[in-house]
Amino acid sequence: MPEFISGISCYEKRMKTMEKKFFDKIIHGGDYNPDQWVNFPEIWDEDMRLMKLAHINSATVGIFSWSMLEPEEGVYNFEWLDKILDKLHENGIEVILATPSGARPAWLAQKYPEVLRVEETGIRNEYGVRHNHCLTSPVYREKVRNINRKLAERYKDHPAVKMWHISNEYCGECHCELCQEAFRDWLKEYYHNSLDELNFKWWNGFWSHQVTDWSQINSPKFRGENHVSAMKLCWNRFVSDSHISFYENEIAPLREITPDIPITTNFMRMYDGIDYQKFAKKLDLVSWDNYPAWDNGRNESEALEAAFVHDAFRSMRNGQPFFMMESTPSQVNWHNVNKLPKAEMQELSSIQAVAHGADSVQYFQWRKSRGGHEKYHGAVVDHCGHENTRVFKGIAKLGENLEKLSDVVGGYSEAKVAIIYDWENGWAIKHFHGFNNINRSYLEECKKWYAPFMKKGVAVDIISMEDDFSKYDLVISPFLYMLKDGTDKRIEEYVENGGNFVATYLTGLVDKDDLCFLGGFPANNLKKVFGIWNEESDGLPENIKNSVSYNGKKYDVVHVCDIIHANEAETLGSYEKDFYAGQPAVTVNSYGKGKAYYVAFRNDDDFAEDFLSQFDIAPDADIQLSAGTYLRKRGDVVFVMNFADEEKTIYLDKEYTDLINGGNLNGEVTLPVCGYLALK
Ligand SMILES: [Zn+2]
Repeated sequence: MPEFISGISCYEKRMKTMEKKFFDKIIHGGDYNPDQWVNFPEIWDEDMRLMKLAHINSATVGIFSWSMLEPEEGVYNFEWLDKILDKLHENGIEVILATPSGARPAWLAQKYPEVLRVEETGIRNEYGVRHNHCLTSPVYREKVRNINRKLAERYKDHPAVKMWHISNEYCGECHCELCQEAFRDWLKEYYHNSLDELNFKWWNGFWSHQVTDWSQINSPKFRGENHVSAMKLCWNRFVSDSHISFYENEIAPLREITPDIPITTNFMRMYDGIDYQKFAKKLDLVSWDNYPAWDNGRNESEALEAAFVHDAFRSMRNGQPFFMMESTPSQVNWHNVNKLPKAEMQELSSIQAVAHGADSVQYFQWRKSRGGHEKYHGAVVDHCGHENTRVFKGIAKLGENLEKLSDVVGGYSEAKVAIIYDWENGWAIKHFHGFNNINRSYLEECKKWYAPFMKKGVAVDIISMEDDFSKYDLVISPFLYMLKDGTDKRIEEYVENGGNFVATYLTGLVDKDDLCFLGGFPANNLKKVFGIWNEESDGLPENIKNSVSYNGKKYDVVHVCDIIHANEAETLGSYEKDFYAGQPAVTVNSYGKGKAYYVAFRNDDDFAEDFLSQFDIAPDADIQLSAGTYLRKRGDVVFVMNFADEEKTIYLDKEYTDLINGGNLNGEVTLPVCGYLALK
């Protein structure tokens, strides 16, 4: 079992921080790497001048500074960090101090090869890149704890330090012997030390795969066991728990020495290697790195995905505002082709984050590196080194505007609708073989049900299947293939008490251990709640489509559909082709005081929007929008944003104060391309 360090401040204290407003202004800053310029004091001075010009109020320092901080084992050099923290403080810039575990000094890897990661091939990596460490290695954990303790001891009272930034973008997995052993220990705990239980849950009688000793189990690999989906699910959970345990090891000295400094780590979009919904509960504040491919001709779909992801991170801690820890001031260097976004697009992207609950707009990075892998990644200060650039001017203008939005800091959005997007369900969907093995993107399906609300101006929470449903008028669970213990009962209770619940195809097929429910789908009591029985599911190749008639309109059925029987349910739409023509495809069942809807097919066009129009859910503001624009209310501020490729006209329902431009607005307003308003 990976070493678990629980030296953290008490739970109650952390619960209180969920309600706490950490800052009274929008944090505007980003990754600052003065260690790359340590021999150029004039650049440090120039940075201070430029930061003030760009309305920067925060710098995240030290993310990859380990070899500068500890050039040799046990030899420390903090002088440069002392100097720059003092300098930042003197210039009124707050500091988010990072721990450096994301990349390690060469001496460490050379002396202790066990810290390096072993890939699925079984071959240990050589030293290099970042994120190249074993999550289990006691040596690495000790070294990380040690450098973090040194940082905490030295800077615990530094007035500039306002937050901890733990490591960087935790990701990946390790297959070394230490991790194999830790996986076996994890399984022993999960399966109550019983191989019989494991053999049953993994259905190991299939292909004669029963194991008789824990040592016979290894991590899933392409050259080994890779067809036992329950095992792969366990591996996902183990890897995710290893990251969380690694993080808890990292923060132990920080909680001990600096209990009042909040802690975050930066997540990456909907990265599926870590259960972010579980991890988020361990943070004081969620933060994530936002890199949409703007100006690639798909700005509206990029805006949809960014909105969905913002809402997912906002929802992980009951709507608590989050940080957008990274974004690019310009282009990135890691897309296949890196299109330059308009400065106005970068500005709109940042405002979108704030509208959805971000209390920060931060960049990677402040000053472009002169060499190394990311020397062409966008930065606020380019290689030319001065402020007379398109990008710098755009950032400065945005910084000025963010200063006018302090009113939204700490503000929540009230959502009447929730969509269930659950990390563990995503893993289960990825692993099974059947029906349609090509087209099954869980995220795409969830975004499809999210889009109509975004278009209408209705805030949506993105929750896990374990979150509370009772506060919502409507809960939608696209593709809820796996049900964790008790989820079926909680759905029943929600509907019984008056909730509206929408489920779609392939709902309730397996339990949390990936065993199919017996007695017909959807699982257990859900047949009664939805009033249906799903007898079979059909996979549809690209060249074969069925269709459904619903409410006088026809809809394509693509990729996959369920062939259901309406027992108690009322049929709202039926299939039109194949041997199941005439059978129900959309149903509703009145159950207790509520209604349970089942949409048995996948449609990639406008079915979700048409179907959802029957629910009387008012937009969060009565502003009349036009295509490509959308609104988001946060606290008492309404943001309206234009992601269309042309200017758009909207109609305000009353007089609002224009927080950015000053004055009042009412009636018809024209938004230019990338235009936005913050109205109160
Ligand atoms: Zn390992």
